[in-house]
Amino acid sequence: MDITNRSDIIGWLGDRVDAVGFAPIDRFEEAPEAHHPSTLLKGARTVIVLARAIPRGIFYSPEHSLYFLHRSYHTTYNELDSLALDLVRRIEAGGELAVPIPAYAPLEVEETGTWGLLSLKHAAMLGGLGAIGKGGLVLNEKFGSRLRFGAVVTTAELEPSLIVEELPCPPGCAACIESCPINAFEGGTFNKVMCGPTSIGHAIYPLAFATDRSLENRELVFNTAGYNYWVKCIECQRVCPLNRG
Ligand code: SF4
Ligand code: SF4
Repeated sequence: MDITNRSDIIGWLGDRVDAVGFAPIDRFEEAPEAHHPSTLLKGARTVIVLARAIPRGIFYSPEHSLYFLHRSYHTTYNELDSLALDLVRRIEAGGELAVPIPAYAPLEVEETGTWGLLSLKHAAMLGGLGAIGKGGLVLNEKFGSRLRFGAVVTTAELEPSLIVEELPCPPGCAACIESCPINAFEGGTFNKVMCGPTSIGHAIYPLAFATDRSLENRELVFNTAGYNYWVKCIECQRVCPLNRG
């Protein structure tokens, strides 16, 4: 089946996504050039953002939330990657160009930190799937921060989704900020560099990053041996009332 318009895409995706958003290229003015959709695909006109939710029950497990979350994240990344690749094939069969954006890795390591090829968080916000909350994650009215994202960048011009202007957080809530064991929200903004080593780990990291020389290879480590990372902290997500329903 070849796909040429927005309703074809929504119909073809069906219940294999929990949400889908369409962000036109002119909404990415603030994206860094290296990670702009037009840098990823010449002539790009639309970013299609695909979203799948991880189960709410994870946050109600007394002892095994991290185990369930680990597997749910990595299985969901594979689902989204596979769906994005298949969607690209359908769009190209309809005559346009498209590329699948990975739900997690490959990542690019730069002086400023580790980045996805495209910021899926910003793409989700620009595609109307939620607003970026105090906790630094995309908050969706129905799913809270439980959505994981994949995307397709395409030359097809597709009808845009409306942007969500308001955060769905209850008035006065700061549970995510107050729960953080390392105060990664000091000063009112989420500090990704502080959160990273506390929330993500991998058995290979202490060995692979033991010397300055080995640090030069960290992009290779993240994208190969480090792919199936472990989740060590989800406190800010666990306490969020939007995730608990
Ligand atoms: S994941 Fe943990 S360390 Fe990171 S911001 Fe949330 S509570 Fe803090
Ligand atoms: S914990 Fe409260 S402030 Fe933080 S994201 Fe959830 S609803 Fe918003």
